Amino acid sequence: MSSSEPQRPSLGATPPPKERSLQDSLQYIKGVGPHIAEKLNKLNIRNVETFLRHYPKRWEDRTHFPSMAQVRPGEYVTLCGKVVAVSTRYTRQKLAITEALLDDGLGTVKLIWMNQPYMEKTFRALSSAQKEVVVYGQTKREGWSGSSYVLEMQNPEWEELGEDGDTLSANRIVPVYPSTEGLRQGRLRKMFYTTVQEYAPLVEEPLPPEILLRHKLVGVQHAIQQIHFPESQSQLAAARRRLVFEEFFVLQALLALRRRANSHDVSGISFSVNREELQQTLSNIVPFTLTNAQQRAISEIAANVTSGRAMNRLVQGDVGSGKTMVALAALLMAVQNGYQAAIMAPTEILAQQHAFLMSRLLEPIGIHVEVLLGSQTQKQKNRIRDRVITGLAQIVVGTHALIQEGVDFSKLGLVVIDEQHRFGVLQRQALALKGVRPHILVMTATPIPRTLTMTLYGDLDVSILDELPPGRKPIKTHWRSQEKREQVYKGAQTLIDEGRQIYVVCPLVEESEKLQAKSATQLAEHISLEVFPQYRVGLLHGQMRPDEKEEVMAQFKAHELDVLVSTTVIEVGIDVPNASVIIIEDAERFGLAQLHQLRGRVGRGEHASFCILVANPKNDDGVARMEVMTATQDGFRIAEEDLRLRGPGEFFGTRQSGIPEFTIADIFNDMDILAETRETAFQLVEADPKLIRPEHHPLRRALEKLRDNMGMMNVS
Ligand code: ADP
Ligand code: MG
Repeated sequence: MSSSEPQRPSLGATPPPKERSLQDSLQYIKGVGPHIAEKLNKLNIRNVETFLRHYPKRWEDRTHFPSMAQVRPGEYVTLCGKVVAVSTRYTRQKLAITEALLDDGLGTVKLIWMNQPYMEKTFRALSSAQKEVVVYGQTKREGWSGSSYVLEMQNPEWEELGEDGDTLSANRIVPVYPSTEGLRQGRLRKMFYTTVQEYAPLVEEPLPPEILLRHKLVGVQHAIQQIHFPESQSQLAAARRRLVFEEFFVLQALLALRRRANSHDVSGISFSVNREELQQTLSNIVPFTLTNAQQRAISEIAANVTSGRAMNRLVQGDVGSGKTMVALAALLMAVQNGYQAAIMAPTEILAQQHAFLMSRLLEPIGIHVEVLLGSQTQKQKNRIRDRVITGLAQIVVGTHALIQEGVDFSKLGLVVIDEQHRFGVLQRQALALKGVRPHILVMTATPIPRTLTMTLYGDLDVSILDELPPGRKPIKTHWRSQEKREQVYKGAQTLIDEGRQIYVVCPLVEESEKLQAKSATQLAEHISLEVFPQYRVGLLHGQMRPDEKEEVMAQFKAHELDVLVSTTVIEVGIDVPNASVIIIEDAERFGLAQLHQLRGRVGRGEHASFCILVANPKNDDGVARMEVMTATQDGFRIAEEDLRLRGPGEFFGTRQSGIPEFTIADIFNDMDILAETRETAFQLVEADPKLIRPEHHPLRRALEKLRDNMGMMNVS
């Protein structure tokens, strides 16, 4: 064993036998048979290495428990006591409600389970055996009992204290792991204990010694031991900080390398752009003057595409800030240099709208636009593919159908991804791979705080559209209960009579697309027959054929319809400036980001606009969302509130943002560590761009692993 091995005071120091490896399969772990291995697979644990990196979700200090007499309602707490009473009753709807009273000598708390009648037997057994039980959950106030409140806890996590004489679960800081059905904490803890003991000494330190020293970080082996079985709160904090640092650092190093590779690689396509000519063309075809922010973004793009290096740029701007025109300018640059350009959008309706706009503006100056959608017939697709491969199609607009096999370009020079947060990293990459290092422009309305954007998209240049086109009026947002629906419709009627158009968004049906379509159809019938028989009402939902959707959108655009009843298919990108009211039914079912996007469908022209949220929220969360929406129209503030209400896990979930999920880091609360790692990683890459110094070899290996996990194919 090497002398640099850190001390492992709590876990003994048996050196691992030579043949052990972190790549060992799970069955090498004591207590893991095929059955448990399968459960671990469900948690994305594939081998010993990923097992060690499966960190606890929280820790309980079981050296002392708070007294039940002192706990307040609303707190998340761990309590310990004996079961003194158990009962089950049934509601009229035949719902079983099981209750158990837990007592710690100073107070009691009532535990409640819905529809888990078997809990009664379990807890009776615990009660007669006089076992101590540990519970974790949020306390609620139940009511007076004698002179004090009785607290209750619904569906608590629980376990027997020191189950099977298990010393890992009592009298210490105890790890609680993300688990899956049928895998109890006590069992997990034992498996972790032996694995950490046997394998942690094999983990290679990816961080260079100099960085450990400078940032006062503990070594990786020690950190892994302490994160699983901390000896004290301060050891735990040090371990966590180190592992968070590592996770961010490795990602930042990857981004730094990519950015460097991009900026030093001169094999990109070089366009020539005559700014005056471009300006002239734009002002001939665009019916308004571009905002300064749009001009700035276009200049930044021009600088990229003429540099000889491949562009990787993100355009970020709130809904309605005019990102499409920036894309249009970029498309022109490509086409005027004899290259094809592709633009990918997340929905068919948005793709069609882009195609419609692009053809209208560009066909008159002789540029040929095609649109490719998943739901087109095979014959249509074949015809379009032919035009794409021969180069006849200069601009190709489409959905993810663009990235399918069989779509080949003759000379792809630019890829634009609209609403990029709707696509995964892989999908973006796949489109870029249809060309030879094409320029890439991604656009998003996800208003992530600027510092965060720079950090998370460290390999991209960023243009920000921080200015709305002139003449926009604020969208007045009101929250109305369902009982006031009639009044809402009356108000809308006045505006329709003034010549405006309105959207009605139907309630969200999560079960299936089919049910969603059905509910939209019913609402449309109701509105056209009973609410607004005097107006022209249209219907739009995801199950319609593309030509039907296109037809309805075209009619709405041409003001041949007054009212459009729709599902969330209009959520992103749809642009009809004469529409000035959006009524969102059952608004409490939608997330904040979604509501903000939906609201962005109005307020796109010079008319005063309204967003009406019809909602009877059933919980505080729903109320909070309605209040945020009525209080502000600022996408950044809404994003922050969203983060706060939903938590970073969901907000930055891989699917939504294309951002990798972190195993231990919390992007919101660990922002300062993120900033620290970014600077350090970029410095390191600057000093040793190929990571050839021996002290950087372990980092290089860690990067390769991350790269494999992220499936980034074009990382050089
Ligand atoms: P988003 O950033 O949400 O994609 P769009 O590109 O759809 O926004 O633009 C929103 C609306 O603003 C469209 O109707 C568009 O024609 C209009 N618009 C864009 N730029 C300007 C401008 N400079 N002046 C006036 N209207 C503009
Ligand atoms: Mg858009």
